[in-house]
Amino acid sequence: MLKIIFMDRDGVINKDPGGWTKYNYVTEPNEFHFLPGALKALKLLHANRIRVVIISNQAGVSKGCFTKDMLSRVNSKMCDEIGKAGGAIDDVYYCIHKDEDNCACRKPKTGMLEKALAKYRLNPKNTFMVGDSKVDVMAGRGAGIKTIFVLSGKATAEDMKKWEVKPDYCFGGLLEAVEWILNKEKRRANRSVGRKKLAHKDRASGAQDLEAGEGVQ
Ligand SMILES: [Mg+2]
Repeated sequence: MLKIIFMDRDGVINKDPGGWTKYNYVTEPNEFHFLPGALKALKLLHANRIRVVIISNQAGVSKGCFTKDMLSRVNSKMCDEIGKAGGAIDDVYYCIHKDEDNCACRKPKTGMLEKALAKYRLNPKNTFMVGDSKVDVMAGRGAGIKTIFVLSGKATAEDMKKWEVKPDYCFGGLLEAVEWILNKEKRRANRSVGRKKLAHKDRASGAQDLEAGEGVQ
């Protein structure tokens, strides 16, 4: 059963800040704009008791484009709006380092995902990583997690063809991805109920056979 899903932030939940903000980062709450369908997707996950953990690179902090406090204000606005819309963000991991810092957490490295997998004692096979860029796919794959690439952010389907690491699945946006995940989960749950019913039936007929056998003796 799927309990937790990992996702990148920019280009998945909100409009990617590349090309239209001063620093190509979301530095203030008014630069945070939800993508169409994102709030509904998060509400659906919450309604189905699937927790959401954000895994996001925010190197703009190290580069001096914005401060940790500003990042925290943007994060609070995001969580508040999602809460008002019936969804929830259960945990966030932000890497504030830049490439030169050579940290273990900046995607495509797997540090943030590994920390989260350990914290939630999660088998990587039982979750997904949703992202809009190559580094998300590489980080997810590196951590042994199935990856979902969404076309609502930085990269296009054409870009993806050139990547050495390909995602497991690709959707237009978060809502499409979440609807697919929930359908998959539903089918899995139905199969499991079907198997249980069958096992119960087998046990019941086994008991009858035994009674019949005892009768013969
Ligand atoms: Mg992104």
